[in-house]
Amino acid sequence: MILLNDFKRMDEDIHTEIVEACERVFRSGWYILGDEVRRFEQDLAHYVNAKWAIGCGNGMDAIEIALRTLQLRPGEKVITTPLTAFATTLAIIRAGGIPVYVDVDPCGQIDLTLVEQLLQQDITIRFIVPVHLYGIPINLDALSRLKRKYHLIIVEDCAQAIGATYGNKLVGSVGHLSAVSFYPTKNLGAFGDAGAVWGSKQLLEKQVRMYRDYGQSKKYIHSVVGLNSRLDELQAALLQKQLELHLDSYIQRRQKVADFYYSHIKNKNIVLLPVDTRARSTWHLFPVLVRGSRRDFMNYCEANGVQTGIHYPVLASDQKACASFPKISVSGKLTKAKYFASHEVSLPIHPYLTDDEVSEVVRIVNNWK
Ligand SMILES: *Cc1c(COP(=O)(O)O)cnc(C)c1O
Repeated sequence: MILLNDFKRMDEDIHTEIVEACERVFRSGWYILGDEVRRFEQDLAHYVNAKWAIGCGNGMDAIEIALRTLQLRPGEKVITTPLTAFATTLAIIRAGGIPVYVDVDPCGQIDLTLVEQLLQQDITIRFIVPVHLYGIPINLDALSRLKRKYHLIIVEDCAQAIGATYGNKLVGSVGHLSAVSFYPTKNLGAFGDAGAVWGSKQLLEKQVRMYRDYGQSKKYIHSVVGLNSRLDELQAALLQKQLELHLDSYIQRRQKVADFYYSHIKNKNIVLLPVDTRARSTWHLFPVLVRGSRRDFMNYCEANGVQTGIHYPVLASDQKACASFPKISVSGKLTKAKYFASHEVSLPIHPYLTDDEVSEVVRIVNNWK
C-alpha cells in the first residue's frame, strides 16, 4: 500500500538522531520550558523570518492565543474559511469570537475578493484568520493590501504551509501574528502535539508568552486569563532537529512529487488545482477534484494499493457543533467550498515516497475511468 504518511520509514531514516535528542533531554532533568524550547524558538523565528517565535501546546491553541493577544472582543466577528481543519473554527470560538465564513477560490483558498466585498458591507469587522490550505499560500500581496486598506487584524493559520512563499513574501509575514501546528502529519511534525505563534512586535511577544503559561506576567502573578499551552523540552528538541536537518529537504521532495504529478497526471476526470505561478506551495497535501463519483475513485485507488484521503468532507459551517452556536454567520452561498467538500481527494505526497511509488500513483490515477 502506498500510504498518505509513512512514519515507519521516517523512523528508519532519523532514528539515531531522535534518540540522541531524547537522551539529551532525559539527562538534563528539565522537561518543560527550558533551553531546548528557547533554542527551537530562536531557530523557528529565524526560519520564518520573524523577530520571535513562541512554542505552545498545539496549533489550535496557537490560533486562540494569537487572537486573545490581539484583544479580540467577546462576540466579535472573525472572517475565516469553511474549508479547513475544524481547529481553525474551534480556536476562534474558544477565543470568544464568531466565525464569519467566506467562500473559497478555485484552489480551495479563502476568496479575498469576496472578503473585500464583505469588509465593505460590514465595517464593524476587524479580524480575519486566513488559512494557507494544503500548503498553498494565499495571495499575500492582496492580503497585505486589505490589511492596510481596512486596518484588518490578521492571524495567519500556517499549520499546513510553513516555508511556503507567495512572490517574495513568506507565509506568516503579513499577519500581525501567525500560528503553526506541529501535529505529526504536518510538514514539520513533532512526535506528539505541539504548535507555535510567531510575530515581529515586541509588545505582542510578552503577551503570547503570558497566554501560553496561565497568563503569568511573573511567577504566581496572573495578569490575563491564560491557557496551559506550554511546549515541552522533548518535543522542542525533536522539532529543532527536524527543522535543522530535514524540513527543507522534506519540502523540496514534496515539491518534486507535486511537479511530477502536474506534468504526468492526465485524466479528464481528475482535475488538478490551478495554482498561481507566484505561489510556491509546500504541498502538505496533494488535492485533486474528481469529476464523477468520488467514492468510486477512492475505492478504486484503495483496491489498487494507493491510499487516499478527503480534506475536508464537512465544511466547518455545517458541523453539528456550529449548529448549537447560532451566532455563526455565512457570507454568500459557499458554492465552491461545498464543491470541494464533495469532490476533493488527496493523493499521497509525503517525503518518503519513492520515485517508483510516485509513478505508480500516476499510473493508477490515469487508468481510472
Ligand atoms: C492541523 C491544523 C490545525 C490545528 O493544529 P493542532 O496542532 O492539531 O491543534 C489548525 N489549522 C489547520 C489548517 C490545520 O491543518
